[in-house]
Amino acid sequence: MTTLAEEPAVERTGEPSAPPMVQVRGLWKSFGPNAVLRGVDLDVPAGSVTVVLGPSGSGKSTLLRSINHLEKLDRGFVAIDGELIGYRRSGDRLHELKEREVLRQRTHIGFVFQNFNLFPHLTVLENLTEAPVSALGRPKAEARARALELLERVGLAEKAAAYPRQLSGGQQQRVAIARALALDPKVLLFDEPTSALDPELVGEVLDVIKDLARTGTTMIVVTHEIGFAREVADTVVFMDGGVVVEQGPPREVLDEPRHERTKAFLAKVL
Ligand code: ADP
Ligand code: MG
Repeated sequence: MTTLAEEPAVERTGEPSAPPMVQVRGLWKSFGPNAVLRGVDLDVPAGSVTVVLGPSGSGKSTLLRSINHLEKLDRGFVAIDGELIGYRRSGDRLHELKEREVLRQRTHIGFVFQNFNLFPHLTVLENLTEAPVSALGRPKAEARARALELLERVGLAEKAAAYPRQLSGGQQQRVAIARALALDPKVLLFDEPTSALDPELVGEVLDVIKDLARTGTTMIVVTHEIGFAREVADTVVFMDGGVVVEQGPPREVLDEPRHERTKAFLAKVL
């Protein structure tokens, strides 16, 4: 049972008619006795990049998984482009959506995992066309054309017929990013996209994400790459113990952190 009914309606902030692309309000999530998220609020304006930093176990992955409704919320809500994720409002109550509806909503939310999670038995091209064809019902030819365009964009057009195991980790992650883009998502979520990579392969993946940032893709990136955060983030969010400890422009949070916990974390990773 959720207690979402007490939460306010989706707020409209900033632009009079445009809610932030991602809106998280009062989000609580426990696993048994372990309260992992303890009232997280987050706004991500359309076209902006938010980098989430924080120690292991602070709830970063759970936050991303909650945004995608891979986790049910205990309390609070997530809205993407003004649409509640995972629930339907009826009067002052929220009802959980049917799985089919949640799957439809998820097509708007691209997710890139630490370990790529490509389909090993499908070619690179098939990895990109599978969901557009099966989940969105796009014609095969159209899905293939779009997939080739995206592979071009991540510099892997010549690998269309290869299988994931034939690619380096960096190449696999670039394919995973292209696959996420194939559904034309409203937002892309990255959960430590480079932390499984050999150091020499990190740059090529970050370059692809930087390119997306330049073209106005709305993104939330969980990463320990501070240099990347400094260069690309519009907002840096520091999480610890299931709460947002502080957030702001990279220059503030990274160079002049106000909280001891942020300072201690940065001293370890910088
Ligand atoms: P982070 O990504 O910041 O390292 P996580 O969100 O993965 O943190 O995890 C936060 C806490 O939640 C950890 O203590 C972890 O053990 C716990 N946790 C995460 N997922 C589950 C789960 N499915 N069941 C039980 N505990 C979980
Ligand atoms: Mg994590």
